Amino acid sequence: MLRIKMGALMIVFLLLGACTKEDTLAKQNTNTTDPTISESESSLLFMLEEEKLARDTYLYLDSLYGYLKVFKNISSSEQRHMDFVANLLDSRSISYQILDQGSFADTSLQAFYNSFKLKGQLGLAEALHIGATIEDLDIYDLQNFIADSQDQALIDLYETLICGSGNHMRAFVSNMEMQGLSYQAQFLSQAEVDSILAGSHTHCGP
Ligand code: MN
Ligand code: MN
Repeated sequence: MLRIKMGALMIVFLLLGACTKEDTLAKQNTNTTDPTISESESSLLFMLEEEKLARDTYLYLDSLYGYLKVFKNISSSEQRHMDFVANLLDSRSISYQILDQGSFADTSLQAFYNSFKLKGQLGLAEALHIGATIEDLDIYDLQNFIADSQDQALIDLYETLICGSGNHMRAFVSNMEMQGLSYQAQFLSQAEVDSILAGSHTHCGP
């Protein structure tokens, strides 16, 4: 019995050692010290802000390149994604806060936003590339959280968000392609990105 427990403990240490950057980010979230929230549920708090990163970045890019409807349209979709996450948090009485546009409690998400805002000013090509980058990151994080979770409601929600992100990535990359550009994967593998790009627009969620 003790041997089995030690084995499980070793696995925990190994998993901790192999922790991805995103796992670490999620653990930094302020509410994760609350023992009544599972580690899986703490990812909801992180994803709420990562969906906000998408929404706020696209709203900013829309203020620069509003002649292209893609940023405004997708920012509305990100607002819905935030609402989905907030609804699940509400249903479990987990408290959260949504900071003002452009402000993030998570320092890494704040750093991403600041850098996207600067790069986005360089031109439309950079702005579209930022869009594809955010969707790449979003899908990557969601897949990792799904892999670490056995919480079916949370997994179903994340699958819906991944589905939406696929639509968004296709929209940004097709706009890049119209400019003779292509997108190279940064978080997912190139094969995963290629497979998403080969898909077509999908209705996501219930
Ligand atoms: Mn989203
Ligand atoms: Mn998106």
